[in-house]
Amino acid sequence: MNSIAENIRKFHEAVPPGVEIVAVSKFHPDSMIMEAYEAGQHIFGESRVQEFVEKVKTLPSDIQWHFIGHLQTNKVRQIIGKTSLIESVDSERILDLIDRESERAGVVTKVLLQVHVAAEEAKFGFSPEELMNYFENLKYRDLKATHICGLMGMATNTEDTERVREDFRTLHSLFEEVKRKSIDLKGFNQLSMGMSGDWPIAVEEGSNIIRIGSAIFGERK
Ligand SMILES: *Cc1c(COP(=O)(O)O)cnc(C)c1O
Repeated sequence: MNSIAENIRKFHEAVPPGVEIVAVSKFHPDSMIMEAYEAGQHIFGESRVQEFVEKVKTLPSDIQWHFIGHLQTNKVRQIIGKTSLIESVDSERILDLIDRESERAGVVTKVLLQVHVAAEEAKFGFSPEELMNYFENLKYRDLKATHICGLMGMATNTEDTERVREDFRTLHSLFEEVKRKSIDLKGFNQLSMGMSGDWPIAVEEGSNIIRIGSAIFGERK
């Protein structure tokens, strides 16, 4: 197997300019993150609040942390002010809470709304209908300390690459539709889709953030 540093270099070569690579470091120790960091990777993704908070404390302060996991209401406060992007805002309730806690902390939090388009039932996220309702009702105008920068989504977990491509297309068209309908929504330009197994298809379908875990760090234990 390649070293982490080699994997980082390969990704930075293979991925087209304009596509941001998030190294998903969940479950992996600081030493492995440092290996990636020293190879030039400065954006990392974490999905569990406790683990994230611990890593922020000990790792270099110029790391840009993306939070990518499901957030429980009682844990939101712990991550405010520590993220460069929360990609996994999966309900209006969490969004409003992030806004309240950000205002209270005197920071502006950048977020993506997570949209559920995959076939699996048990996934988090706004349904396409909920998403469009949110923007059509202009609810984003009530946000005081949160900036919605775009959307995040996952494709169905299947070998069927046509289904995967279809899911990414759906996400991309929702992204374009929100952009078209919400002309006063500034800086809505990030579309996070694609992981280790499907990122080339995601990039072909318009992704500009890919979230790569196992293809950089190996399998999670
Ligand atoms: C774990 C995780 C990833 C990375 O998955 P890999 O298949 O290991 O690349 C990407 N996105 C989210 C939301 C995740 O939870």
